[in-house]
Amino acid sequence: MDKRLILDSELLRITIFRLVEELIENHGDFTDTVLIGMQPRGIYLADRLHKRLEERLESSIPLGYLDVTFYRDDFRRRDSPIEANATDIPFLIEDKKVILIDDVLFTGRTTRAALDAMIAFGRPRLVELLTFIDRKYTRDLPIQPDYVGKRVNTLKTQRVLVEWTDQGAENDQIWLVT
Ligand code: 5GP
Ligand code: MG
Repeated sequence: MDKRLILDSELLRITIFRLVEELIENHGDFTDTVLIGMQPRGIYLADRLHKRLEERLESSIPLGYLDVTFYRDDFRRRDSPIEANATDIPFLIEDKKVILIDDVLFTGRTTRAALDAMIAFGRPRLVELLTFIDRKYTRDLPIQPDYVGKRVNTLKTQRVLVEWTDQGAENDQIWLVT
């Protein structure tokens, strides 16, 4: 196993700050915009972006979590029992601008499922996709991110290891594992 560091904690922190500035550039004071983190692993990134965004705008921004397990096109094909995570969207997304947040974008199937799952919560005016790591050239579907932390050229057999730690952002790291 070969493990290569692609983002250390300092660069990761800078990247989160930059993504928040890009979001503000497009969404201003976030009056009609909400954040939705994708379960299970997109929520750590969503939490970090949300915290920074609220600091920056000095206001409270709606944040929800979406689980897409039962909307996946492959969920009946699994051998192991399915474990779903909590969906928690304590606001209406009707007519809102939604920023979908996930840690890694690979084939695009999770994002496709998320678009389906969201319909239960209303009809958004606009949906954008933010991913921390965009694994290039691996998509099965025509889905592309609007905001990217870092683009990484990966083989399908490789894996991006995202280590979000409990101690806040100080020890977060991202690796490419071959
Ligand atoms: P997709 O559905 O686009 O194939 O895969 C995206 C989902 O699977 C994301 O929710 C992400 O958390 C997870 N994922 C896919 N590839 C990787 C990877 O290399 N590393 C990590 N940590 N998660 C991945
Ligand atoms: Mg995805």
